[in-house]
Amino acid sequence: MWSCGGVRGETVEDFIERVLITEEEIRQRVRELGEAISRDYAGKELRVVGVLRGAFIFMADLVRNIRVPLSVDFMSISSYGDECETSGVVRILKDLDKPITGRHVLIVEDIVDTGLTLRHLKEVLSTRGPASLRVCALLSKPERRLVQDLTIDYLGFEIPNCFVVGYGLDYAERYRNYPFIFVLKPEFYHDAQREGKGQCG
Ligand code: IMP
Repeated sequence: MWSCGGVRGETVEDFIERVLITEEEIRQRVRELGEAISRDYAGKELRVVGVLRGAFIFMADLVRNIRVPLSVDFMSISSYGDECETSGVVRILKDLDKPITGRHVLIVEDIVDTGLTLRHLKEVLSTRGPASLRVCALLSKPERRLVQDLTIDYLGFEIPNCFVVGYGLDYAERYRNYPFIFVLKPEFYHDAQREGKGQCG
């Protein structure tokens, strides 16, 4: 049984500062997102494009809640920048396996922070002639947004300005395996002093 930052008095992993979104809250919201997507795409076929690696767990749960015919594909991208800050210049490490021309494409992202990565990704994919292009993101940090006119068609949760991990999201490739979303104790961020990570504000 996973703990929720000690709220329920169960096992507390010693690196967890606090749990922001519990496993149950995620499950409920992913179900709602799946229902909304199923309604909106009724009668159509979807191509769900997951952005690796952060979205892999979210996408696996999301597609199991979608009730229209769909196929999946994946892209792997890397932002130029340091471990926690994106520069918005995106390098494609793994492109889609299949063309998306004429397809109803749903991009599945883990988190929209400044929005630079998603803007770039949408620009790249929209040049390939999809029938439609929408975005489903698990998390958004509106306070950090640099791209103002970015539409997130389906959003799980808005969160405050803090660096979170778990449920697919990592810090230095760790913590993806936890089924809830949490903030690490500051001492577990190597650059905590410099970046102020772990402080939610
Ligand atoms: P953006 O271009 O600033 O929107 O950054 C988006 C990418 O930065 C995400 O896909 C994540 O890989 C990463 N990222 C931003 N914030 C967080 C966070 O709080 N935890 C983990 N990864 C994050």
